Amino acid sequence: MSDAVLIPDAVPQRRLTRQALVSWGGNTIAVGGDAPVRVQSMTNTDTADAIGTAIQVKELAQAGSELVRITVNTPEAAAAVPAIREQLDRMGVDVPLIGDFHYNGHVLLTQYPDCAQALSKYRINPGNVGKGDKKDRQFSQMIEVAARWNKPVRIGVNWGSLDQELLAGLMDSNARQPRPRDAQQVMYEALIASALQSAERAEHLGLPGHQILLSCKVSAVRDLIAVYRELSRRCDYALHLGLTEAGMGTKGTVASTAALSVLLQDGIGDTIRVSLTPAPGEARTQEVVVAREVLQALGLRSFVPSVTACPGCGRTTSSVFQELAQDIDRHLRAQMPVWRAQYPGVETMRLAVMGCIVNGPGESRHADIGISLPGTGEQPSAPVFIDGEKRHTLRGDRIAEQFLDIVNNYIQQRWGLHRSQAAHVQSPRSEEDEGASGSPALTPWTHAN
Ligand code: SF4
Repeated sequence: MSDAVLIPDAVPQRRLTRQALVSWGGNTIAVGGDAPVRVQSMTNTDTADAIGTAIQVKELAQAGSELVRITVNTPEAAAAVPAIREQLDRMGVDVPLIGDFHYNGHVLLTQYPDCAQALSKYRINPGNVGKGDKKDRQFSQMIEVAARWNKPVRIGVNWGSLDQELLAGLMDSNARQPRPRDAQQVMYEALIASALQSAERAEHLGLPGHQILLSCKVSAVRDLIAVYRELSRRCDYALHLGLTEAGMGTKGTVASTAALSVLLQDGIGDTIRVSLTPAPGEARTQEVVVAREVLQALGLRSFVPSVTACPGCGRTTSSVFQELAQDIDRHLRAQMPVWRAQYPGVETMRLAVMGCIVNGPGESRHADIGISLPGTGEQPSAPVFIDGEKRHTLRGDRIAEQFLDIVNNYIQQRWGLHRSQAAHVQSPRSEEDEGASGSPALTPWTHAN
């Protein structure tokens, strides 16, 4: 190994951005700088329906959305925003609300000051603020409201509503070059220029630079990566990432994950949204679930203990291990709202549920707790590894319940006590302590409630 080459680890180096503060009541969400990458989502209710919108905002917040955007498109919607905020406050939901404005934002933010005040951040699309001389005036009106209320603004460019005057100007100027760039390159440039020029103008109008976030959304993965790499090279505003119109189900999930993962691994992105089209009857909260999974898979944040499970193959004799993996995953997710407060740090726990001895013991040793179920032709026993050591062997038809008990006890022992107390906790007993029935001897661990 003397001439071995050191392999650098793959921890993303976050690009340093200015930090915006998005607040409501006592809840301040820092975005950018050294803050964790934030998860946000958007409602699909009619904002004029204050109760329906407040309920969906609550669902998204409970699923883990740290910021929730609502469309503010009509006078009725603007008038409903304070009622939505009030309803959320009554329910104890202090998630900051972001207002999404297109075409008439200057009118709504000016004529409905209670709406402007109840929102914690505004999203302005520079491609949809008006044409000709109206554009500057209407953009200025919105920025002046934001500066007056001290609200951060995301300048959110979208290629579906790109500023056509800017694009046409860049196309003309490109055509006059001796070696014109291709149309795709000009489109990239137009997206970035629209965001940067608008941000510069907003700062000129009095909005502090740290209160400005940028996004340049497109619907193709490689376009998004190209645009954000260049955008992040040219500025230090906090960046919101998202693949626009990602689509439905597996396609939307994979496309969003592919795009966001590459950029996040490059250290680009301070807040993300996964723009999934829900299938009929599917919960809107799925976009939050996917966004959190992306961040957790990249090791950027931990939200819920992770369960590593093998895919199964011809060596697995039954669906027992699949069911166990599913039961454990469900149990962990269901308990997290309580555990988060009761056992701080539990979200970093790693479990392994494996189908046979080929990779089972090895994977289990790398987890905090792992179980290797018997595959075809193997002894009908399931070794359990805790902190890298084999501690129990489970047998019989109550393996799932026994394993859950072990997990619950481990959580209680490791995260339920202060560190000084935890140091005195006796380590769990070895498999030799187990009774002939195959039930694990859990004492001195006590069963968690
Ligand atoms: S651990 Fe065993 S059961 Fe699971 S995929 Fe590998 S060989 Fe198959």
